[in-house]
Amino acid sequence: MNHVVELRGVGHNFGAGPVLADLDLAVDRGEFLALLGPSGCGKSTTLRVIAGYLRPAEGQVLIGGRDATRVPPQRRNIGMVFQSYALFPHLSVAENVAFGLRMRKVGKLERTRRVGEALELVGLGQLAARKPGQLSGGQQQRVALARAVVIRPDVLLLDEPLSNLDARLRIQLRSELARVQRETGLTAVLVTHDQEEALALADRMAVLRDGRIAQQGSPREVFERPRNRFVAQFLGYENVLALPDRGEVAVRPEHVRIEAADAAADPSAVSFEGVVDELTYRGTHTTATVTVPLPAGPVALRGIALSPGALAPGRAARVVLSEPAIVPLLDEPHRPVLEENPV
Ligand code: ADP
Ligand code: MG
Repeated sequence: MNHVVELRGVGHNFGAGPVLADLDLAVDRGEFLALLGPSGCGKSTTLRVIAGYLRPAEGQVLIGGRDATRVPPQRRNIGMVFQSYALFPHLSVAENVAFGLRMRKVGKLERTRRVGEALELVGLGQLAARKPGQLSGGQQQRVALARAVVIRPDVLLLDEPLSNLDARLRIQLRSELARVQRETGLTAVLVTHDQEEALALADRMAVLRDGRIAQQGSPREVFERPRNRFVAQFLGYENVLALPDRGEVAVRPEHVRIEAADAAADPSAVSFEGVVDELTYRGTHTTATVTVPLPAGPVALRGIALSPGALAPGRAARVVLSEPAIVPLLDEPHRPVLEENPV
């Protein structure tokens, strides 16, 4: 089966080091892919390559199974939504949405009908005559979304479309975006640095590191089974440590218990004794950081303080990792861990 979009071995640099390196990425019809990663890892560059605004130095871009590496953006049927709404301020909402249809020489009747449908889809039917300056940020972003979907693109590219909105609006627009994609069956690629957004929207997610895919899979797979230190730490697994005989593992702080050293021990759990560095009150709970002496050297581990009253900086504590929450980092080289320091 042909992918809607496929990048094969794409590489690029702007003069300094590589920004994209041997990047392979495929998006299937109707799929919602989230591209995740820290600032500067190459997410926007990847979208610009897909849209045709940037011709990569190496590799191939296929759209609908055909080589489109040299096809200019206006001849690719792609819709884009940016963080900045980028609307024409002097045009009405309806005229903004109609713009791509005019460029494609769609007749007036058909244009009016499709603009009306697109505005209904994003809940702006009543505001067609307004100018962008008379709309809130959330409404402007809905116009940008309508403008992108009205051309019935082969793929909709979304570059951090929600990050200019306040928290409440962001969550509201997030579920609208999910609904629009469901109702239209559009293929979409969403760039975000917000893991919650990716988990809520995507069928599949890919985490990018320095212009390469560090891991991809279903949101559940990637979130629950990060394969390497980079993905684990990006997704909030603050604790990465080498366990004797097991290599490197990652554990979320929410899944680590910090107990007083004299509390009754659970023999089935993995636990370490250490010294409390710091306690932090977080409203619903208190976290503690404890330095434990592991064979490979001291490591600071963070977890939930079970009885914060019994813990204090400088005092002994026990760090308890419960088994299902310990995630082996399969991509990391399994270095032998010395059981004792050699003399
Ligand atoms: P992201 O969207 O993941 O934050 P970008 O794809 O925008 O990252 O950028 C990746 C890297 O490429 C960054 O280091 C950025 O500074 C660099 N970069 C992006 N566009 C250009 C450009 N036009 N000229 C020079 N460097 C660029
Ligand atoms: Mg970007």
